[in-house]
Amino acid sequence: MRSLKTQLSLAFMLVVLITVSIISFFSNTLVSSQFESYITKTQTQRTDHILSDLSLQYNSFTHTWNINAVRTVGMDALEEGYIIKVYNRVGENIWDAENHDMTECKHIMDDITSRMKEYGATGNFASHKYTLTQNGQEIGSVTVSYFGPYFLTEGDFDFISSLNTMLMIVGVSSLLFSFIAGLILARRIARPVTKTAEIAGQIAAGKYDIQFESGTKMKELLDLVSSVNHLANALSKQENLRKRLTADVAHELRTPLAALGTHTEAMIDGIWQPTPARLKSCHEEILRLGKMVMDLERLERADSDNLKLDKTLTDLLALTRSVCENFAGELSNKNLRLDIDGMPAVVSIDKDRTGGVIGNLMSNAVKYTSKGGHIQISVRETDSEVVLTIEDSGAGIPENELPFIFERFYRADKSRNRNTGGAGIGLAIVKSVIAAHGGTVVAQSKPNKGSKFVVTFPKSI
Ligand code: ADP
Repeated sequence: MRSLKTQLSLAFMLVVLITVSIISFFSNTLVSSQFESYITKTQTQRTDHILSDLSLQYNSFTHTWNINAVRTVGMDALEEGYIIKVYNRVGENIWDAENHDMTECKHIMDDITSRMKEYGATGNFASHKYTLTQNGQEIGSVTVSYFGPYFLTEGDFDFISSLNTMLMIVGVSSLLFSFIAGLILARRIARPVTKTAEIAGQIAAGKYDIQFESGTKMKELLDLVSSVNHLANALSKQENLRKRLTADVAHELRTPLAALGTHTEAMIDGIWQPTPARLKSCHEEILRLGKMVMDLERLERADSDNLKLDKTLTDLLALTRSVCENFAGELSNKNLRLDIDGMPAVVSIDKDRTGGVIGNLMSNAVKYTSKGGHIQISVRETDSEVVLTIEDSGAGIPENELPFIFERFYRADKSRNRNTGGAGIGLAIVKSVIAAHGGTVVAQSKPNKGSKFVVTFPKSI
């Protein structure tokens, strides 16, 4: 397994290697073709030059050639790789580079041939015959031999090889830079990733109270770090909830069990007479325990994961009215006023479970609103959802308790709740059922002014 650092550095180097190779290939091809056409053109110019230089060496009055000057032209040409033979008007040879300096000619020809072979060009020395004229009169002829179709002088050759050396230097230094850049970048990426992996490992080992800063500026890595932080947070919350749940269940069970234990013990020991009143009190404790177990079962069933909904098109307003009818007795006992308004709103919901939700919210409103209070229910419809609002003028919920009331076994005011008798499960069930419908439930409250629960059901589901 290769590390991220190695992989990134290698990838960087590969990219640079490919780029430099492509650049080298194209620049070489381009330079070669440009160079060849330039050199071919220069050769023609050079030949023209030799011809005109030679023509100037003929004296048309004396009909003689200046052999010394012809030799100078011939030697200059030879230096540049052109081997010439000059003939007069009647075809007699007046100067021949090979006759003049055989060794030099051979040396130059070998030099050019080997250089061109090294360059990779195919070709050989070929002779081209030209007529020499002066003022339109034929004065002789010349044979020019040179390496064709074109050849490179030593200067040209140096130019091409220094170009290649430069490309080599650029290539090697780019490779080096890319390797360093790759390493730096890889380290920047790898470090937060390694750190995140390390933190994730700690989370897996059960250490949730960690939040860390990655020190990176890369968006994806920041997202990763914040996801891991969220994960730690969520797990820590779950863990706390689980602990509290266990503690709460134990606490809830302990009180009735202790009462039952002492009462029955007293009766067995004969300290207490088993009067119907005492047995009734024991029976009530047993009923409370039974209710708690039932609540726990209800909660388990309402868990949105295994909650099966039996949806039908239902008018939420009508359903609300019918559920509220069951509270007529309690409402009049506490002298509470109930107002329900809104328009019929048909939505696809599980009628029984939604009825349960409304019952729960209504029962809380009744429970936590003192005598003479007011409960206001409304059903509204928007383009995409149906909204049910249940508002009471009761005790309200302290702001710091609001985020927790939908959690299992959460009770905002424990002492108050002892009297009202709830176990803190109702709202947890409400939330599960509504979540299973794809809806939402939120609570707003001002202590001593009242609470408002807003439930939304999406129309599309
Ligand atoms: P409980 O069975 O204790 O009523 P719930 O889950 O229904 O449990 O509610 C959780 C807590 O939220 C309650 O203990 C109570 O403190 C608070 N609560 C819920 N509804 C209201 C309300 N309408 N007014 C004031 N407090 C409320």
